Amino acid sequence: MADERLFGGIELGGTKTVFAIGTCSGKIIARRTVPTRAPEAVVADAAIFFAEGGSKVSALGVGAFGPIVIDPKAPDYGQLCDTNKPGWSGFGLTGALEEAMGLPVRLVTDVGAAAIGEAQLGALRGCEIGIYLTVGTGIGGAIIVGGKVLPALLHPEMGHIALHRLPGDAAPSTCNFHDNCAEGLAAGPAIAARFGKSLDHFAPDDPEFLMIADYLGQLCCQLVLTLSPQRIVLGGGVGGAPGVVPAVHRAMVRHLGRYAPAAVADEHYLTAPTLGQDAGITGALVCAVNAIREMA
Ligand SMILES: [Zn+2]
Repeated sequence: MADERLFGGIELGGTKTVFAIGTCSGKIIARRTVPTRAPEAVVADAAIFFAEGGSKVSALGVGAFGPIVIDPKAPDYGQLCDTNKPGWSGFGLTGALEEAMGLPVRLVTDVGAAAIGEAQLGALRGCEIGIYLTVGTGIGGAIIVGGKVLPALLHPEMGHIALHRLPGDAAPSTCNFHDNCAEGLAAGPAIAARFGKSLDHFAPDDPEFLMIADYLGQLCCQLVLTLSPQRIVLGGGVGGAPGVVPAVHRAMVRHLGRYAPAAVADEHYLTAPTLGQDAGITGALVCAVNAIREMA
Protein backbone atom coordinates (compact mmCIF):
# COMPACT_ATOMS: atom_id res chain seq x y z
CA MET A 1 0.00 0.00 0.00
CA ALA A 2 1.31 3.44 -0.86
CA ASP A 3 2.54 5.55 2.03
CA GLU A 4 0.26 8.59 1.89
CA ARG A 5 1.49 10.21 5.08
CA LEU A 6 2.80 13.76 4.91
CA PHE A 7 6.07 15.05 6.32
CA GLY A 8 7.40 18.46 7.29
CA GLY A 9 10.72 20.04 6.36
CA ILE A 10 12.47 23.18 7.58
CA GLU A 11 15.52 24.67 5.94
CA LEU A 12 16.87 27.19 8.43
CA GLY A 13 19.26 29.59 6.71
CA GLY A 14 21.10 32.62 7.99
CA THR A 15 18.76 35.05 6.23
CA LYS A 16 15.71 33.03 5.16
CA THR A 17 13.88 29.95 6.33
CA VAL A 18 11.87 27.58 4.12
CA PHE A 19 9.00 25.46 5.45
CA ALA A 20 7.60 22.65 3.33
CA ILE A 21 5.12 19.81 3.44
CA GLY A 22 5.91 16.81 1.27
CA THR A 23 5.36 13.14 0.58
CA CYS A 24 7.43 10.14 1.63
CA SER A 25 9.38 10.37 -1.64
CA GLY A 26 10.45 13.95 -0.86
CA LYS A 27 8.01 15.58 -3.32
CA ILE A 28 7.07 19.07 -2.09
CA ILE A 29 3.35 19.88 -2.09
CA ALA A 30 3.30 23.15 -0.12
CA ARG A 31 5.96 25.61 0.91
CA ARG A 32 6.56 29.03 2.43
CA THR A 33 9.69 31.15 2.74
CA VAL A 34 10.05 33.62 5.63
CA PRO A 35 12.90 35.84 6.85
CA THR A 36 14.95 34.19 9.62
CA ARG A 37 14.01 36.32 12.64
CA ALA A 38 14.71 35.63 16.31
CA PRO A 39 14.58 31.91 17.19
CA GLU A 40 11.27 32.08 19.07
CA ALA A 41 9.68 33.87 16.09
CA VAL A 42 10.93 31.21 13.66
CA VAL A 43 9.44 28.47 15.85
CA ALA A 44 6.15 30.40 15.95
CA ASP A 45 6.21 30.83 12.14
CA ALA A 46 6.76 27.08 11.79
CA ALA A 47 3.85 26.27 14.12
CA ILE A 48 1.55 28.51 12.07
CA PHE A 49 2.62 27.06 8.71
CA PHE A 50 2.26 23.42 9.77
CA ALA A 51 -1.11 24.05 11.46
CA GLU A 52 -2.63 25.61 8.32
CA GLY A 53 -4.56 23.70 5.72
CA GLY A 54 -5.34 20.80 8.00
CA SER A 55 -2.69 18.56 6.43
CA LYS A 56 -1.15 16.93 9.50
CA VAL A 57 2.49 15.97 9.15
CA SER A 58 3.95 12.90 10.89
CA ALA A 59 7.46 14.19 11.63
CA LEU A 60 9.71 17.15 11.03
CA GLY A 61 13.15 17.18 9.39
CA VAL A 62 15.37 20.21 9.89
CA GLY A 63 18.46 21.33 7.99
CA ALA A 64 19.98 24.17 10.00
CA PHE A 65 22.81 26.66 9.76
CA GLY A 66 25.45 26.16 12.40
CA PRO A 67 27.51 25.50 14.20
CA ILE A 68 24.90 23.25 15.79
CA VAL A 69 25.17 19.99 17.75
CA ILE A 70 23.88 17.22 15.47
CA ASP A 71 24.93 14.15 17.47
CA PRO A 72 21.61 12.80 18.87
CA LYS A 73 23.50 11.23 21.80
CA ALA A 74 25.02 14.54 22.94
CA PRO A 75 23.37 16.18 25.98
CA ASP A 76 23.15 19.47 24.07
CA TYR A 77 21.75 17.88 20.87
CA GLY A 78 19.96 20.39 18.68
CA GLN A 79 21.52 23.40 20.35
CA LEU A 80 23.18 26.22 18.43
CA CYS A 81 26.82 26.84 19.40
CA ASP A 82 28.31 30.34 19.49
CA THR A 83 27.17 32.16 16.37
CA ASN A 84 27.27 35.75 15.13
CA LYS A 85 23.53 35.68 14.55
CA PRO A 86 21.87 37.65 17.37
CA GLY A 87 19.78 35.59 19.77
CA TRP A 88 20.69 32.19 18.35
CA SER A 89 23.76 31.24 20.44
CA GLY A 90 22.77 28.44 22.83
CA PHE A 91 19.20 28.16 21.51
CA GLY A 92 17.81 24.63 21.75
CA LEU A 93 16.23 24.36 18.30
CA THR A 94 15.02 20.77 18.22
CA GLY A 95 13.60 20.94 21.77
CA ALA A 96 11.67 24.12 20.97
CA LEU A 97 10.24 22.65 17.76
CA GLU A 98 9.26 19.37 19.46
CA GLU A 99 7.53 21.28 22.22
CA ALA A 100 5.72 23.70 19.87
CA MET A 101 4.56 21.04 17.45
CA GLY A 102 4.40 17.78 19.37
CA LEU A 103 6.23 15.98 16.58
CA PRO A 104 9.44 13.97 16.36
CA VAL A 105 12.20 16.19 14.96
CA ARG A 106 15.29 15.02 13.08
CA LEU A 107 18.18 17.49 12.68
CA VAL A 108 21.05 17.74 10.20
CA THR A 109 23.24 20.61 9.07
CA ASP A 110 22.15 22.72 6.09
CA VAL A 111 24.86 21.17 3.93
CA GLY A 112 23.93 17.71 5.21
CA ALA A 113 20.30 18.30 4.23
CA ALA A 114 21.28 19.33 0.69
CA ALA A 115 23.48 16.25 0.42
CA ILE A 116 20.64 13.97 1.56
CA GLY A 117 18.30 15.64 -0.96
CA GLU A 118 20.77 14.99 -3.77
CA ALA A 119 21.25 11.40 -2.56
CA GLN A 120 17.51 10.72 -2.52
CA LEU A 121 16.36 12.47 -5.69
CA GLY A 122 19.34 14.12 -7.34
CA ALA A 123 22.88 13.69 -8.59
CA LEU A 124 24.07 11.38 -5.78
CA ARG A 125 21.24 8.88 -6.24
CA GLY A 126 22.61 5.35 -6.39
CA CYS A 127 26.03 6.33 -5.03
CA GLU A 128 27.20 4.22 -2.11
CA ILE A 129 29.62 7.01 -1.24
CA GLY A 130 29.33 10.55 -2.54
CA ILE A 131 30.32 14.08 -1.56
CA TYR A 132 28.28 17.26 -1.65
CA LEU A 133 30.47 20.34 -1.73
CA THR A 134 29.09 23.86 -1.60
CA VAL A 135 31.24 26.87 -2.45
CA GLY A 136 29.68 30.24 -1.70
CA THR A 137 30.32 32.64 1.18
CA GLY A 138 32.18 29.70 2.73
CA ILE A 139 33.02 26.18 1.68
CA GLY A 140 31.13 23.32 3.30
CA GLY A 141 30.77 19.67 2.54
CA ALA A 142 28.95 16.52 3.56
CA ILE A 143 29.84 12.89 2.97
CA ILE A 144 26.97 10.60 2.01
CA VAL A 145 27.26 6.88 2.70
CA GLY A 146 24.34 4.66 1.74
CA GLY A 147 22.00 7.64 1.42
CA LYS A 148 22.86 9.04 4.85
CA VAL A 149 25.29 11.64 6.11
CA LEU A 150 28.37 10.01 7.58
CA PRO A 151 28.21 10.42 11.38
CA ALA A 152 30.81 12.84 12.63
CA LEU A 153 32.15 14.43 15.77
CA LEU A 154 30.86 17.86 14.69
CA HIS A 155 30.73 18.01 10.91
CA PRO A 156 33.43 17.86 8.24
CA GLU A 157 35.33 21.08 7.56
CA MET A 158 36.48 20.35 4.04
CA GLY A 159 36.70 24.05 3.26
CA HIS A 160 39.70 24.38 5.59
CA ILE A 161 41.86 21.77 3.88
CA ALA A 162 45.25 23.32 3.05
CA LEU A 163 46.12 23.84 -0.62
CA HIS A 164 49.30 24.70 -2.51
CA ARG A 165 49.31 28.36 -3.43
CA LEU A 166 49.96 29.00 -7.10
CA PRO A 167 53.32 30.63 -7.90
CA GLY A 168 53.10 34.41 -7.45
CA ASP A 169 49.81 34.31 -5.52
CA ALA A 170 50.42 36.43 -2.42
CA ALA A 171 46.83 37.58 -1.84
CA PRO A 172 45.91 37.52 1.86
CA SER A 173 43.73 34.59 2.92
CA THR A 174 40.22 35.60 3.98
CA CYS A 175 40.13 32.75 6.53
CA ASN A 176 40.84 33.95 10.07
CA PHE A 177 42.53 30.68 10.93
CA HIS A 178 44.61 29.59 7.93
CA ASP A 179 46.85 31.24 5.36
CA ASN A 180 46.25 28.76 2.54
CA CYS A 181 43.01 26.84 3.07
CA ALA A 182 40.47 26.43 0.27
CA GLU A 183 37.93 28.77 1.86
CA GLY A 184 40.51 31.50 2.47
CA LEU A 185 41.78 31.30 -1.12
CA ALA A 186 38.74 30.50 -3.24
CA ALA A 187 35.35 31.08 -1.55
CA GLY A 188 33.16 34.04 -2.52
CA PRO A 189 34.72 36.58 -0.10
CA ALA A 190 38.24 35.55 -1.19
CA ILE A 191 37.28 36.04 -4.85
CA ALA A 192 35.73 39.45 -4.09
CA ALA A 193 38.82 40.52 -2.11
CA ARG A 194 41.19 39.36 -4.87
CA PHE A 195 39.40 40.67 -7.95
CA GLY A 196 36.81 43.17 -6.69
CA LYS A 197 34.00 41.19 -8.34
CA SER A 198 32.44 37.75 -8.40
CA LEU A 199 33.58 34.84 -10.55
CA ASP A 200 30.67 35.08 -12.98
CA HIS A 201 32.20 38.33 -14.29
CA PHE A 202 35.09 36.33 -15.78
CA ALA A 203 35.29 34.07 -18.83
CA PRO A 204 36.36 30.45 -18.23
CA ASP A 205 39.72 31.04 -19.94
CA ASP A 206 40.58 34.18 -17.93
CA PRO A 207 43.56 33.68 -15.61
CA GLU A 208 41.47 34.79 -12.60
CA PHE A 209 38.86 32.14 -13.38
CA LEU A 210 41.50 29.46 -13.93
CA MET A 211 43.18 30.31 -10.61
CA ILE A 212 39.98 29.72 -8.63
CA ALA A 213 39.22 26.56 -10.65
CA ASP A 214 42.71 25.30 -9.85
CA TYR A 215 42.23 25.81 -6.12
CA LEU A 216 38.85 24.11 -6.11
CA GLY A 217 40.34 21.33 -8.27
CA GLN A 218 43.06 20.84 -5.64
CA LEU A 219 40.38 20.56 -2.97
CA CYS A 220 38.43 17.95 -4.97
CA CYS A 221 41.70 16.08 -5.59
CA GLN A 222 42.27 15.83 -1.82
CA LEU A 223 38.72 14.55 -1.32
CA VAL A 224 39.13 11.91 -4.04
CA LEU A 225 42.38 10.71 -2.48
CA THR A 226 40.92 10.58 1.04
CA LEU A 227 37.46 9.13 0.47
CA SER A 228 37.38 7.75 -3.08
CA PRO A 229 33.78 8.88 -3.65
CA GLN A 230 31.79 7.67 -6.65
CA ARG A 231 30.69 11.22 -7.42
CA ILE A 232 31.20 14.79 -6.21
CA VAL A 233 28.43 17.38 -6.45
CA LEU A 234 29.63 20.98 -6.59
CA GLY A 235 27.03 23.60 -5.65
CA GLY A 236 26.75 27.05 -4.07
CA GLY A 237 27.02 30.53 -5.56
CA VAL A 238 30.62 30.13 -6.72
CA GLY A 239 30.23 26.47 -7.69
CA GLY A 240 27.17 27.41 -9.78
CA ALA A 241 28.87 30.16 -11.83
CA PRO A 242 28.89 29.32 -15.56
CA GLY A 243 31.78 27.07 -16.54
CA VAL A 244 33.01 26.38 -12.99
CA VAL A 245 32.10 22.67 -12.79
CA PRO A 246 33.96 21.58 -15.97
CA ALA A 247 36.94 23.84 -15.15
CA VAL A 248 37.22 22.43 -11.62
CA HIS A 249 36.91 18.91 -13.02
CA ARG A 250 39.79 19.50 -15.44
CA ALA A 251 41.93 20.94 -12.64
CA MET A 252 41.07 18.01 -10.35
CA VAL A 253 42.06 15.44 -12.97
CA ARG A 254 45.30 17.35 -13.63
CA HIS A 255 46.20 17.40 -9.94
CA LEU A 256 45.44 13.71 -9.52
CA GLY A 257 47.82 12.93 -12.36
CA ARG A 258 47.55 9.30 -13.38
CA TYR A 259 47.16 8.21 -9.78
CA ALA A 260 43.39 7.87 -9.63
CA PRO A 261 40.61 5.48 -10.64
CA ALA A 262 39.70 5.84 -14.33
CA ALA A 263 36.13 6.79 -13.36
CA VAL A 264 37.19 10.24 -12.12
CA ALA A 265 37.98 11.31 -15.70
CA ASP A 266 34.32 10.89 -16.69
CA GLU A 267 32.83 14.33 -17.32
CA HIS A 268 29.87 13.52 -15.04
CA TYR A 269 32.08 12.55 -12.10
CA LEU A 270 32.01 16.14 -10.86
CA THR A 271 28.57 17.58 -11.39
CA ALA A 272 26.18 20.39 -10.47
CA PRO A 273 23.35 19.62 -8.00
CA THR A 274 20.31 18.30 -9.86
CA LEU A 275 17.80 19.74 -7.39
CA GLY A 276 19.34 23.22 -7.39
CA GLN A 277 17.76 25.45 -4.74
CA ASP A 278 15.45 22.62 -3.60
CA ALA A 279 18.21 20.27 -2.44
CA GLY A 280 18.17 21.45 1.19
CA ILE A 281 14.43 21.48 1.78
CA THR A 282 14.06 18.12 0.00
CA GLY A 283 16.75 16.65 2.24
CA ALA A 284 14.96 17.99 5.32
CA LEU A 285 11.78 16.19 4.21
CA VAL A 286 13.73 12.97 3.66
CA CYS A 287 15.08 13.25 7.23
CA ALA A 288 11.52 13.43 8.55
CA VAL A 289 10.61 10.30 6.57
CA ASN A 290 13.68 8.48 7.92
CA ALA A 291 12.82 9.52 11.48
CA ILE A 292 9.43 7.80 11.24
CA ARG A 293 10.79 4.70 9.49
CA GLU A 294 13.48 4.25 12.12
CA MET A 295 10.91 4.55 14.92
CA ALA A 296 8.64 1.90 13.33
ZN1 LIG B 1 40.61 28.07 6.91
